[in-house]
Amino acid sequence: MTTVHKGCLECGKLWNDRKAGREFCCTTCRLAFNNRRMKRGAEMYDLFRAMRRERDQAKLLGLWAEMCRLELRWQQEDQEQRPNRRSYMPPRKALANLRESGRLPIGDVVAKNIRAGR
Ligand SMILES: [Zn+2]
Repeated sequence: MTTVHKGCLECGKLWNDRKAGREFCCTTCRLAFNNRRMKRGAEMYDLFRAMRRERDQAKLLGLWAEMCRLELRWQQEDQEQRPNRRSYMPPRKALANLRESGRLPIGDVVAKNIRAGR
């Protein structure tokens, strides 16, 4: 059975095919979407790490506000260039992707600390 999609997340093009759940019309669009996420992730990496590891300095410099401004700029760019199409994974999918990759040890640290009596 042929499935009608909402449209490619990158270019918005509608297409029909037999694979449900496909989000991109072609490899070029999938790569463009993922490359943008990687570039933005790299921009956010140091800010986020500094927020977690050097909290006092980060607070003094207003890093959280800068992170929010950066995200707002991305949202504005997205609306101009790719209106009404998200450019990030929804929360459940983002967590599922990390869990599937084995990169998100949810519960491990908490459980270890509880057992250790900390
Ligand atoms: Zn596309």
